[in-house]
Amino acid sequence: MTQGFDTLQIHAGAEPDPATGARQVPIYQTTAYAFRDADHAAALFNLQEVGYIYSRLTNPTVAALQNRMAALEGGAGAVCCSSGHAAQIMALFPLMAPGMNIVASNRLYGGTITQFSQTFKRFGWSCTFVDLDDEAAVKATIDENTRAIFCETIANPGGYVTDVPAMAKIADAAGIPLIVDNTSATPALARPIDMGATLVVHSMTKYLTGNGTVTGGCVVDSGKFDWSASDKFPSLSAPEPAYHGLKFHETFGELAFTFHSIAIGLRDLGMTLNPQAAHYTLMGIETLSLRMAKHVENARAVAQWLEADPRIDAVTWPGLESSPYYKRGQQIVPKGAGALFTVSVKGGYDACVKLVDSLKLFSHVANLGDTRSLIIHSASTTHRQLTEDQQRAAGAAPEVVRLSIGTEDPADLIADLDQALTAATA
Ligand SMILES: *Cc1c(COP(=O)(O)O)cnc(C)c1O
Repeated sequence: MTQGFDTLQIHAGAEPDPATGARQVPIYQTTAYAFRDADHAAALFNLQEVGYIYSRLTNPTVAALQNRMAALEGGAGAVCCSSGHAAQIMALFPLMAPGMNIVASNRLYGGTITQFSQTFKRFGWSCTFVDLDDEAAVKATIDENTRAIFCETIANPGGYVTDVPAMAKIADAAGIPLIVDNTSATPALARPIDMGATLVVHSMTKYLTGNGTVTGGCVVDSGKFDWSASDKFPSLSAPEPAYHGLKFHETFGELAFTFHSIAIGLRDLGMTLNPQAAHYTLMGIETLSLRMAKHVENARAVAQWLEADPRIDAVTWPGLESSPYYKRGQQIVPKGAGALFTVSVKGGYDACVKLVDSLKLFSHVANLGDTRSLIIHSASTTHRQLTEDQQRAAGAAPEVVRLSIGTEDPADLIADLDQALTAATA
């Protein structure tokens, strides 16, 4: 990293606007871009020259965000898209084909488990979920049709920290990429590429924008994977008929994945991020490290208070010394274990429902990573499509609520939890 993170989060990807001098990144609210002449247009369409054609593919506001995300994660390039779930499809699309599979952590965001176990089938893809702490099982699950390992840095919502370097080693030995969802940690707390990840995916909907205003996603490519080392990734290594036989890896080197994601992924899947959303996210990212430090500080205060409270059975924040992932957290997320955790409430399902209904400052919503503190009873909402076994594996058992701690005064958050726990366990 040439400049520090706090500098990059404000400056990376954004020079004063070349047309007007505008200091802040303008919202380029345009669908199309005028070609200089017919030769210029032909060069752009042949991917011989990089430039703007049509906003389904590229847009200057979105490009600023892409460059900033690549800088913050330490990647070679990035592509933004319309949501975190779109980012997951965009990450896998160049790697997969019918009959191919991925190996994923059994502790993932509930929506991701549903996408991987259900919607994948429509594409002829499949996913096997394994306990990533069982490295022998991870290795044994990889077969000749496996095209990636997928995990989250800090798993939403169960307080699980993944041993990212260990997963990178297994992926390397198998000649496949490691994809890490870094939504809960953000690059302010963890940089998976530094730990060996090939691709990093984000729901920018969460901490990156930071205030619950937009839906967006991003895939950052490390640029380090050798797509031509085997015949497993023909989309990136073999001639592409739609571009006169161009080979993405041979032509674009460390930017092969990024160019493929724009020229084929966004072109044909159309999961484009709009420039207005990109602008909000750029604004959010300017204060990312400052907010994450406060999120972590508040999470510590609230988690410690809850852990000491007799109305609570367990708190899963990995920053607590009682967490089985405390030690690993110190290594993977040394600046803090995020601000998302679950709490087991004495009194089970009914007490959880009453708790959620009794809180005044916390909002009962399905989002996370907002400046506002949020709560949800996952078993009856985000994780309700899963079986009870899957819910438990994902840290979303019926007696558990998920908290996303905001940046308010921690004493006010604790006072609100105190009065609501009294009502819920009376
Ligand atoms: C929210 C979330 C997603 C999905 O992102 P959307 O922007 O809602 O599509 C994926 N992974 C994690 C960890 C999330 O928190």
